[in-house]
Amino acid sequence: MASMMFTDCSSSTAAARLLPLSRGRLRSDCSSIFIRRFVGSHPMCTNSLRTTVHSASSSSHVIKATMSTESSAKVIDGKAVAEQIRDEITAEVSRMKDEIGVVPGLAVILVGDRKDSATYVRNKKKACDSVGITSFEARLPEDSSEHEVLKFISGYNDDPSIHGILVQLPLPSHMNEQNILNAVSIEKDVDGFHPLNIGRLAMRGRDPLFVPCTPKGCIELLHRYGIDIKGKRAVVIGRSNIVGMPAALLLQREDATVSIVHSRTKNPENIIKQADIIIAAVGQPNMVRGSWIKPGAVVIDVGINPVEDAKSRRGYRLVGDVCYEEACKVASAITPVPGGVGPMTIAMLLSNTLSSAKRAHNFQ
Ligand code: NAP
Repeated sequence: MASMMFTDCSSSTAAARLLPLSRGRLRSDCSSIFIRRFVGSHPMCTNSLRTTVHSASSSSHVIKATMSTESSAKVIDGKAVAEQIRDEITAEVSRMKDEIGVVPGLAVILVGDRKDSATYVRNKKKACDSVGITSFEARLPEDSSEHEVLKFISGYNDDPSIHGILVQLPLPSHMNEQNILNAVSIEKDVDGFHPLNIGRLAMRGRDPLFVPCTPKGCIELLHRYGIDIKGKRAVVIGRSNIVGMPAALLLQREDATVSIVHSRTKNPENIIKQADIIIAAVGQPNMVRGSWIKPGAVVIDVGINPVEDAKSRRGYRLVGDVCYEEACKVASAITPVPGGVGPMTIAMLLSNTLSSAKRAHNFQ
């Protein structure tokens, strides 16, 4: 189903097939304190938006945006927010090193030779380097045994210079993902996928040590743009373990009234239309149409889907799960794809690694 791509969301009948980039669709990966001014606009929304990111030392991180055209949505600029967060992390990493001589460390385990996974791991290493976090990497051949992977995890669990462990998914099919993820110490589970962390996220009165990076990034965007969550009706489209389900739990923890739409939901439009906040994490290009969105709703589009584009040098471009050109006329604020949630995921991974190191060394 995911390989059926709409090339143009202004026409619901215009469907075209795109050769899968990897296993049927482009899988995105789940697994900044300056006062700066920037223009956040999206080519499909003709209005331009002037946005100011306030410094961390000011009373809040809230980003104020003013519109040059009243009829269109504010663009929630994930790239700029992620940059701001990375600057904040850089400052904290350096303060930690100066004050207690500790540098946060992140270990990544990559099994097999999938090109997309190798790219994600490379990007994570680059991101660590850019903020001063030390990265460690274990590359194991595709035919490694589960036992070998578990040995690496156990070594990293015991290594005090490592504060975060990430197993790059997907693992080769002969491995039991559950066994492997469960082996990561919950104190170092920076991906937030350990069942104990997810369980704590779901329970009232309990706090997870880590929250999965992509949903955490979605909520951080809402916070930094000063969007109220409490008492709002929120709809999460998708219920995957890595995005939809934790996103719904996070919204609920923030006192939203949450509905989850999935592939068996009847009349999803009617449910989505009631939402003040929509988080779409489906993997279906342009599925959510403008007419499904309540005027003034806030839209966070997690989807990253390749669609054919003869005009692009690569022959394709990336679109979200929401039909941007329709939605930006109805919503009050919206994340673009690319440049919305995507950059937040790695920023949250760095943030989780820093928090882990701080917690391990009781550094405030
Ligand atoms: P997933 O594991 O495939 O889950 C997709 C979810 O969408 C499932 O819960 C599925 O329902 C639901 N769904 C599928 N078709 C639907 C339909 N027609 N109507 C309603 N719900 C439908 O995908 P995922 O890993 O959560 O990723 C979702 C999207 O986010 C993908 O485009 C992915 O590339 C992107 N993503 C982006 C980032 C980022 O950093 N920006 C990170 C992770 C993922 P069932 O449960 O009923 O099958």
